[in-house]
Amino acid sequence: MQRLHARYPFLETARESVATEAVDLATVVEQDRAVVDRARQRVITALEEGDTGEPHRDARIELLSYPVARVLVSMLEERVLVRKYARAEAETAYDRFTADMADTTELKSVESAGLELSDLLAEFDLHGAVAETASGHRIGVGTYLPLAEDLWGDEWRLVNRSLNAGEVPVDEGELLTLLREAIRTRIEDGLPFEVPDAIATVLEDDAAQIREVLADLELTREIDTVVPDLFPPCMKSLLDQIQKGEHLPHHSRFAITAFLSSIGMTTDQIVELYRVNSSFGEEMTRYQTDHIRGETSPTEYSPPSCATMQSYGDCVNKDDLCERIPHPMAYYEERIDDADDEEIDDWREQPDESDNERASGD
Ligand code: SF4
Repeated sequence: MQRLHARYPFLETARESVATEAVDLATVVEQDRAVVDRARQRVITALEEGDTGEPHRDARIELLSYPVARVLVSMLEERVLVRKYARAEAETAYDRFTADMADTTELKSVESAGLELSDLLAEFDLHGAVAETASGHRIGVGTYLPLAEDLWGDEWRLVNRSLNAGEVPVDEGELLTLLREAIRTRIEDGLPFEVPDAIATVLEDDAAQIREVLADLELTREIDTVVPDLFPPCMKSLLDQIQKGEHLPHHSRFAITAFLSSIGMTTDQIVELYRVNSSFGEEMTRYQTDHIRGETSPTEYSPPSCATMQSYGDCVNKDDLCERIPHPMAYYEERIDDADDEEIDDWREQPDESDNERASGD
């Protein structure tokens, strides 16, 4: 059973077994360095790789590292970390349970470390809402909607589903994706929580290491979507000034150009977005953009962090979200993640004549 819990620590029974076996977390973090090391690695790998990394060979250490990882995530109080961590845990669980389900050998049941589809449906109380059909499954619309809410792609939108008597047909792969979402939501719920001082003090260095990774993280090229309405206030302001033909100091022009490049815009698209007034210097823009993108220089530059933006006076019109993020890219990523499909109106997919109007906010 411990192996099963170590592989799927989000299970209710795993939580109970930690509660009975693990005594109190303060003692674990103080006395069991291997657990803390694996917990820190769990979070850092989640940030860097999008999964939780190699499991510890000792199932007890692996299992206990999960609640300690949640403590570490809570200590940082960064929403982007909570999201990335929950996603990575859910992704790891998904890889494991899809492998378990594909595995038809006897070994699995002998070691009882695998999960069946019915186990997962029971875990999330979904048996009543999901029914098997000849071609897949049907799922009640009230259950489907919250599970599909954060999934990308038009195929998940209800209008594109043949809803029948309040039920949505899904194939096997889609059902497993929805279960991954159920896991992610459970992991994300309740994070971050208040960490007792006694535990936080012991884990300070580990939390600092994670903070460093988070700050250094190049969140570049993860988002390939250009929605000026969702830009951070600093970048909106810089873009606005460029489009009005105002002269920007080098650091400001660098910041906005590196930002646009990081969200996936090509040099041509950046030139196009800037080109709304007669004083536009296309040649200079091309030169600078190619340089920042690493096409005419040995380095591809990332946009500056909020701290650097502040020190140059480029951090303006801060809003609530700004208080919680360390980097303009994190701001944009979160806005994109939280936006409804209808809000994701990629500037590059707009008809030409409306581009400049939209981008200038007219
Ligand atoms: S806090 Fe960061 S994202 Fe927000 S306006 Fe300032 S620099 Fe931009």
